[in-house]
Amino acid sequence: METTLDHISETLQAQGQPRYRINQVRTAWFTQPNWDSVTTLSKQLRQDLAQQFSWLSFPTVKVFNSPKDSTQKAIITLADGQKVETVNMPNSRDTRTVCVSSQVGCGMGCTFCATGTMGLKRNLTVDEIVDQVRYWRWQASDVPITNVVFMGMGEPLANSDAVKQAINILINDCEIGKTRIVLSTVAFPGSLKRLVLDADFPDVRLAISLHAGTDETRGKIVPSHKRQTIQQIKEGIEAYLAARHNRRHHVTLEYVMLLDVNDMPTEAEALAKTFKHLSHQIKVNLIPWNQTDANLQRSSEQHMIVFQDILEQAGIPTTIRYSKGLDISAACGQLVVKPLS
Ligand code: SAH
Ligand code: SF4
Repeated sequence: METTLDHISETLQAQGQPRYRINQVRTAWFTQPNWDSVTTLSKQLRQDLAQQFSWLSFPTVKVFNSPKDSTQKAIITLADGQKVETVNMPNSRDTRTVCVSSQVGCGMGCTFCATGTMGLKRNLTVDEIVDQVRYWRWQASDVPITNVVFMGMGEPLANSDAVKQAINILINDCEIGKTRIVLSTVAFPGSLKRLVLDADFPDVRLAISLHAGTDETRGKIVPSHKRQTIQQIKEGIEAYLAARHNRRHHVTLEYVMLLDVNDMPTEAEALAKTFKHLSHQIKVNLIPWNQTDANLQRSSEQHMIVFQDILEQAGIPTTIRYSKGLDISAACGQLVVKPLS
């Protein structure tokens, strides 16, 4: 999969430009906001390149600021008119986390997720993924982006070639450490196995969207679960941990808390039983459900605390994660682009 940067390099090479010139463009590509600012090149060359290659792969970006916190959401209109969203979240200590989308829509159809209702429109290209980070880099450019999470629209492992290449670019050209990249996946059948076998896939952190302790419950809310078992997902996690690192807390289990659907003590007990032996290598994130059009309710505080207690008793570190950006629909699972009415 060739990127715009590859095409630029080929063009410069064909013109007989020296290697350092190509490197100058590469450096500028990840640090400068537009062709005009690439002052290491002659004005003429800049103009020529600008005519052939646009600086960003998408023409339009509309930014929404949260009035409650400093989270920002951007709606990106892609070259073919499709829309995706990306979120910029300043952290407490002068750093930022960017949440990126990997597909337009998603084909997995999880019942509690707004993106799931759109269906899959198409995969994003490598450029379209990386450019979400490049775009945010030039907004508040004095605050470094230290973390990137694949928690926006789409299932990253269903677009794994482009996601893999994008991650490599983030690591090599955007100075994002591989342990500061989180790939969140619903772990559809076969996906973890493929990831483990792919030795070229960088050692990023994994977040597995599990959402249930039993197969019966998971099958109800995660349609892609029908052809697999939680036992198989557990084996996939064990294989990933063994093949990559044994670092503490390397894998997170994500669990969206839905009232009386998956928040019962029996689900917590089943989860604890399956994952207890991995308690020093995993942690659980309980996520209060963010409202969508689905006919579901967020768990009560009481249910969440009981659930957390059961996991903690089994030695599994468990946090309840309140999302940022709720007021601008930037929270996870609300990343659906609503048509203008
Ligand atoms: N497709 C991937 C990544 C995108 S979703 C995945 O499913 O992991 C990112 C996270 O948001 C997942 O853990 C997902 O389960 C969660 N999520 C989806 N809808 C949500 C909602 N309405 N409220 C809270 N979290 C939600
Ligand atoms: Fe897709 Fe993830 Fe939403 Fe499920 S939760 S529909 S996998 S984006």
